[in-house]
Amino acid sequence: MTEAKILMDYMEEHTNEFLEVLKGAVLLETPTEGDKEDLKKYRDYFAKIFSDIGFKCSVIPSNDSRYGDHLLMELGNGDEQVLFVGHYDTVYEKGAFGELWRHEGTKVWGPGVLDMKGGDVQVYLVAKALKEMNLLPKNKKIVFFLNSDEEAGSYSSHMHYKELAKKSKAAFVMESTRGDYVGGLKIGRYGRGNYTFVAEGKPAHSGQEPENAESGLKELAQQAVYLEGLTDLDKGVTVACTCLKSGNAGWPTVPCDGELTIDARFSSVEMAEEYDKLFKNLRPFNPKVKITTKGGIEKPPFDENDPKHRALYEMAKKVGNEFGMDMRGIITRGGSDGNFTASVGCPTLDGLGMSGDFVHQPGKEYINTDHIAIRSAFVARMVLEVLRD
Ligand SMILES: [Zn+2]
Repeated sequence: MTEAKILMDYMEEHTNEFLEVLKGAVLLETPTEGDKEDLKKYRDYFAKIFSDIGFKCSVIPSNDSRYGDHLLMELGNGDEQVLFVGHYDTVYEKGAFGELWRHEGTKVWGPGVLDMKGGDVQVYLVAKALKEMNLLPKNKKIVFFLNSDEEAGSYSSHMHYKELAKKSKAAFVMESTRGDYVGGLKIGRYGRGNYTFVAEGKPAHSGQEPENAESGLKELAQQAVYLEGLTDLDKGVTVACTCLKSGNAGWPTVPCDGELTIDARFSSVEMAEEYDKLFKNLRPFNPKVKITTKGGIEKPPFDENDPKHRALYEMAKKVGNEFGMDMRGIITRGGSDGNFTASVGCPTLDGLGMSGDFVHQPGKEYINTDHIAIRSAFVARMVLEVLRD
């Protein structure tokens, strides 16, 4: 019997266990800035099930009081390791999703089933299978870092991912794939920059002498149109204005100052650097208005064209074939913690979690239960392929 078949049989036999563990996880709601006790309960739940199968679990304190602590879980010994990337926070405030668990036919709905408690529970099943069947190579490790603040940008956790990724042969990001296709993956993600431009000109009475104003408002309005015009979908750049503040409604004053914030996305590191420079040296339309730039690149691009990530994708296609799956990777403009693991040169593959749809949509987010076994068996084979390499 092939390893793929052995793993597939195991996963099919354990699909109900997967659903039970996932149900337990989903019933414990975990909004990003949720109640600390709730978040702790969730971590305890995960630490318990992972220690039961032999993981060493440690709590990594968050350096930001808004978020919960993180969980580092390790199985095995040695210098070579595969890193699993997961988060336990969800975008839903408590109660916002409605019914917490609904299972009908081959679909399960619940807050975070797809993004990404389903993917997190896959790691549990994958590790359990490899352990119980004695397949994990000697002196190799599986490391799973579960953070608490991904939906808010991973400000208190991205450094841990970077450090762990530097030591790992590959990073497997257990975020969901997109849609119902069984062989879906994510093989690249745009980087994200967040910039605020602060204008400083000269105010003037808006009735008596508007011609003498150096208007911050007008300057930023012109910049907003110019900056959004930099969007080039073919090139792989988008710029969207997200906030513009200037002046006081009803006051007879042309405002001298104001702030404009943009969200910019880039497909490659080169592009990110090029536009970062442009934003940091933004030239005013009115030379008498001074513009200073705050912010910068928050998430570096996870570039699909990097040969390290490509090689992992090629491996995934080969392994997918063993299961009769035609693996297809997509590139998305939304970021994940895969952006951080990729940024330190760790071969990264994303979208290894569950299939399904409607992430971040209350009442609608679901996974396909008929893909649990095959997608978990596939991930287990990928772990072996990387660690035996
Ligand atoms: Zn997610």
